[in-house]
Amino acid sequence: MSAVRAASSPSGQIFALQREIRRCTRCEALVRCRSRVVPGAGAAPALVAFVGIAPGRRGGDRTGIPFSGDRSGDLLRAMIARAGLGRVFITNLVRCNPRDGRGRNRDPDAAEIANCREHLLRELAIVRPRIIVCLGRLAWRELAGAGASFSPARVNLSACGGAAVYPMYHPAYVNRGAYPERDYLRDFRRLARIAQAARFD
Ligand code: URA
Repeated sequence: MSAVRAASSPSGQIFALQREIRRCTRCEALVRCRSRVVPGAGAAPALVAFVGIAPGRRGGDRTGIPFSGDRSGDLLRAMIARAGLGRVFITNLVRCNPRDGRGRNRDPDAAEIANCREHLLRELAIVRPRIIVCLGRLAWRELAGAGASFSPARVNLSACGGAAVYPMYHPAYVNRGAYPERDYLRDFRRLARIAQAARFD
């Protein structure tokens, strides 16, 4: 494949976008506390895109890959594998690790989420997933709208720019025992069934 064609394929476009995103300096506080910028990564085009919150201090901030190297990443990736989900793209609302004054993970603030929204929308426009999975309320509110109720236990597909948005609990919520892992696996298997059906519509 020629260099020009490779750059215009979805995976070439994601590669070029990752390089651009890694140079981002929009959020002063995050530029100071991040170890690296962590753009979305995975299949392009994708059947399913997972959107988390932000790379963790022990995970993506160290590895450079979203949801990798920490307990949330281990659980998410185990669920994806056990549900037999292929062609997934994994990203976050925010691409830098937000820390509080004591160096602990914190949620990104509204300005940080807004600053990173363009990166997220550009990633999603390239990978064109059939289903966007919002991991937790923050991602759900950002993509489904503030008024949409967050109820991962029920099938709840809403529209977002030609893709369906689907709420699921964040893996950290399951890891702290607030939702049973066996129910989480059931939710992933249901997602895989819906994604398989979406492949043919
Ligand atoms: N790692 C990520 O990449 N995102 C999260 O939301 C949590 C851990």
